[in-house]
Amino acid sequence: MTLFKEPLKNIFSVNEMLHSAALMFCWLLLWRVSVLMEYAPHASIWFPPAALSFAAFLVMGLRAMPVLMLCSIIATFWVDDMYQSQQPWLQLANSGILFGAVHCLSYWLGATLLKTAVKSLVVDVLPRVILLFLVIGSLTALAAALLGVQALHVSGMLSAQDIATTWLPWWIGDLAATIVLTPLFLGLLSWRYPQIDNWLGGVDFHSLNQPLKPYLLKLLVCVMMLSTIMLLAHYFPYDEVAFAVFFLIIPQMWMVYTESAFRSAVSLAIFSLLTAIWVAVLGLMDQALVYQFAITVIAATAYFGLAVPVLVADNRHLRKLALNDGLTQVSNRLYFFERAEQELLRSRRYQQPVSLILFDIDYFKQINDNQGHSAGDQVLVQVANQIQDNLRQSDIFGRFGGDEFMLLLPNNHLEQACETAQRLRQSLLQIPVDNTTKRLSGSFGVVEFAPDESVQQAFERADANLLLAKRQGRNQVVADPKPQPPLN
Ligand code: GH3
Ligand code: MG
Repeated sequence: MTLFKEPLKNIFSVNEMLHSAALMFCWLLLWRVSVLMEYAPHASIWFPPAALSFAAFLVMGLRAMPVLMLCSIIATFWVDDMYQSQQPWLQLANSGILFGAVHCLSYWLGATLLKTAVKSLVVDVLPRVILLFLVIGSLTALAAALLGVQALHVSGMLSAQDIATTWLPWWIGDLAATIVLTPLFLGLLSWRYPQIDNWLGGVDFHSLNQPLKPYLLKLLVCVMMLSTIMLLAHYFPYDEVAFAVFFLIIPQMWMVYTESAFRSAVSLAIFSLLTAIWVAVLGLMDQALVYQFAITVIAATAYFGLAVPVLVADNRHLRKLALNDGLTQVSNRLYFFERAEQELLRSRRYQQPVSLILFDIDYFKQINDNQGHSAGDQVLVQVANQIQDNLRQSDIFGRFGGDEFMLLLPNNHLEQACETAQRLRQSLLQIPVDNTTKRLSGSFGVVEFAPDESVQQAFERADANLLLAKRQGRNQVVADPKPQPPLN
């Protein structure tokens, strides 16, 4: 697996330096935006740079360390400038380095742990990847918050009594952003690092070919709902109103089940960003924790929802494997009998006739013996295709095994079934056996279901007719259940 190779030797290449500069620009931009959402010292409603650090360590590994350290130091000086705190230069440098060290260490350790845990999964099951991401992401954010407040305290930027009131909102702010934004940033980074998809457990971050209009409509519904709830919370400042934000789970799940993973992640990001902006603009700081929990819970639930389309696709694939014959892709024996029983019940309810055709290719062993098994396989595929082209949609076609196939013809009397069998017998003659003029042929046994006859009983009668067709010289259709001639 090449995914987790992080070649440090390229760190000074022009390309790598450009990426580092872009990472730095994005991190500082996100940091500047998150400062606007601060509702207590060092506590934003959500803190998107944490998610970018986590995603960068996941994708780039240690190569992200220098640039993220630099970002942390710049942010410390910048915040001093913004709040005019006039801290001594040396103390700011100390604080920046300490904050950077604990921030980077926490997110690098978390990312490394997550990568190792995901790699150790024997089967790449998306719900397990998501669970690992949620648990390790939460613990990483907790470590970053606990160590972060300590770093600020040690460097004299945070008093001892403020530690107790700061770590929780710091953690929830980091947590909300990490959970909402890390998958989105991973998705964005995966355009440059496509191998990331390998461990996203089948979630396709690139399928953007669904129509845009319904998606925009869903986004609009989310935005309108959220804005209405936030305005209500502003004008009716009861705690109960703030909890209404949890209703947003409904449109978000609608989004997750019907849109691509990438679009769902974008929608969650917009929902979280707007929530944070509304809280800041409308001064809803008293209920900030409710909104942070809502963001986190809705995002976590939505990620599990992402697994559903993948599981449905897996199920569909497994069902196909279990019900169809692997070589010819027609129904296998088990599925044919299941469908035949259902069709028989339906036809009897409407008092319609049903017939059964069984056929076997003549001298098929010779093809295997003369041209090899793969040539034999090709002939079987050709036979299945040829027959399928000659059937109605309501007919049920299956492979019994070997070179024997069966057909259930609803709404067909014996005479019509015999005509169909003759048509199919002639169509088999079109298939060339090898480069000679020799043609393929088949022997057919046909029956019409008697009242109360089971599929198994009709099958046995058709098999007897098929045997008779073989004995009478092959390449023919036998329909009547004539008595068997003695074997010797
Ligand atoms: P008959 O006219 O009496 O039917 O003669 P036959 O040679 O066709 O004999 P039979 O139907 O009894 O043998 C079918 C052969 O098909 C036996 C087996 O080796 C071969 N066979 C069974 N399944 C497959 C398969 O999936 N692929 C290939 N290439 N051969 C198969
Ligand atoms: Mg045969």
